Amino acid sequence: MKRFLSYLILITMMAMCVSCCNKCDSNDKNTEALVIEMQSLYPEANHDVMKRGVEQVAALWQEQDGTDEEFAQFVKDNYVADAEARKVLFDKLSKVYEVLLGATNQVAVELNLPTMLSGPEPIELDYIMSAFNPFSHLTTDLYENKVAFITILNFPNYSLEEKNALGGEWSRLEWAYARLGDMFTSRVPAEVNKQIGQVNADGENYIAGYNIMMGHLLNEEGVRLFPEDMVLLSHWNLRDEIKSNYANVPNAHEKQEIIYQVMQRIVDGTIPQAVVNNGEYDWAPYSNRTWKGDEEVTLAPEENGRYDVIMSHYAAMKAADKYELQAPTAILRNIEVAMEMTTQEVEELFVNLVSSPQVKAVAEIIKQRLGRDLRPYDIWYDGFKSRSAISEDQLTALTRSKYPTPEAFEADMPRMLLALGFTPAEANYLADKITVQGARGSGHAWGAVGRWENSLLRTRIGGEGMDYKGYNIAVHEFGHNVEQTIDLYDIDHYMLRGVPNTGFTEALAFIFQKRDLQLLGYKQQMDENTTLDIFWGLYEIMGVSLVDMHLWQWLYEHPQATTAELREATLAIARDVWNSYYAPVLGEKDSPILAIYSHMVNSPLYLPNYPLGHIVEFQLEEHFAQFTNTRDFATEIMRMYQLGRLTPNHWMQQAVGCNVSTEPILNAVSAIVK
Ligand SMILES: [Zn+2]
Repeated sequence: MKRFLSYLILITMMAMCVSCCNKCDSNDKNTEALVIEMQSLYPEANHDVMKRGVEQVAALWQEQDGTDEEFAQFVKDNYVADAEARKVLFDKLSKVYEVLLGATNQVAVELNLPTMLSGPEPIELDYIMSAFNPFSHLTTDLYENKVAFITILNFPNYSLEEKNALGGEWSRLEWAYARLGDMFTSRVPAEVNKQIGQVNADGENYIAGYNIMMGHLLNEEGVRLFPEDMVLLSHWNLRDEIKSNYANVPNAHEKQEIIYQVMQRIVDGTIPQAVVNNGEYDWAPYSNRTWKGDEEVTLAPEENGRYDVIMSHYAAMKAADKYELQAPTAILRNIEVAMEMTTQEVEELFVNLVSSPQVKAVAEIIKQRLGRDLRPYDIWYDGFKSRSAISEDQLTALTRSKYPTPEAFEADMPRMLLALGFTPAEANYLADKITVQGARGSGHAWGAVGRWENSLLRTRIGGEGMDYKGYNIAVHEFGHNVEQTIDLYDIDHYMLRGVPNTGFTEALAFIFQKRDLQLLGYKQQMDENTTLDIFWGLYEIMGVSLVDMHLWQWLYEHPQATTAELREATLAIARDVWNSYYAPVLGEKDSPILAIYSHMVNSPLYLPNYPLGHIVEFQLEEHFAQFTNTRDFATEIMRMYQLGRLTPNHWMQQAVGCNVSTEPILNAVSAIVK
């Protein structure tokens, strides 16, 4: 709580700091006088919006854009006071952005075909062009030709707080105006963006090279528990190895314990640096002794490695902060801008679930199944498996015969949509706007951006046709494509296209994926094990998300901190979250295990996005459950996804009548465990 309060104060201070900077800028450019002059020129205009637009242009206008006099002239020449003329300008700008973004998206799609689609092996040129970003100079160009300033002046930005407070009264057009105002809120110089890109690449490399040589791990008796050639990437493969040892395999429990010990040494920096990604040494992680052949050797600990990476992320983010007028911290940009929820909302949502009595009840089920007391790594318990009456081999035989090619899946999409309750006209209309292609990787959905493109469903189809796992993923992606189509093509204003945040597209993908058997003609039962599995996964990911958020709050509160201090603070934060919400359920106080997640190192502050998809999914499922007719399911999907990109709470209010909430998933779990 204390940490949280100090964070609120920090945000308030930053908000004040920005308005102060704006004011200094305003003084330089005589913005106050200009606003007064404009108000007398246009007495009929909405003076609040006008003032907001002039101040925001002033804050982003730089020396190379013109002198103070040129700035004042620009504002007077380009302000559109008349409501009708303003609507004309809005329509023209919407069209401009649709053309630019849609056409640039097509460039990206085409250049990525050789590396993304199945077919001949890509050559070096293909990889170079797949890394090429055709969007990278677009914003700079739009500042240079001043279209960005025309946009800001007439359609200024509203903060999340303002959108949430005012949005309930806004018309759809006012919402669309506000979304146009989100397009230009920062002007980060190319060299700062380059630094951010470099830090991201370094972080990826650090994680990609963090392998543990499992064949060289020794227990205290000198016994090797893992195959000689087993190499596991931290932390995902280590976690997956813990998961696979919930099956009935030799030494399962001892293997889980030793991986847990390895993870603790990775987090606290006591792991010998030279055992990472290197098979030269044997390592006993409990005593932390090391050997080269038969000879015991002393190796230096890694100490701050992962914290150095986080520190460089922080330095790069700090460098960008002063160019980000609406969101001058990495926390605000990643949570308030990217997720459109306040840090406080996200934190409350997560704490509500991780401290719920349902967690204790599910933990009790796990304890009974395992027949032992729980251990910290049981946050990765993997025993809630859905049990289908039909074997996977049978299902694969069916999907292979139905879907030998991407074209076969594409041709079957209208039938699948009919089965979900869409009318023939809707089914054909939606399916017509989705193209299915064979993927090189596991598959994904690439949305259209211009209303002349199809969204792309990429799926992996082997030589013998689509296996059941591939089919299950393809149905997930199909859900994304349906969302991408409804909220682009059926939306009233282009600027409102899309969803509030990634959780809202994941939700529809999960909802489709769960109905995959129904689409194969079987009677689908919503499976209790799947719900418990999702719930236990949320319990884990919300804990690591809280650690990620708290550590960034700590960084902003301690800008002078050294890397060693950051390491100690991270350990303290991880233990604090653990002791509050995990130790009472899983035992063992002071475990630092929640700091192991690799995304904290290579992609800071992304983790809080993960739980949102399932939270939204359960809210929508609870809403669908009140209808008995499948037609209503389809009608409701069409209605909800035509809401477009409101803020999460406004979207959810209009979709199901309440804010984003964990109550539906908690209710679903209660119904199972009671
Ligand atoms: Zn997805």
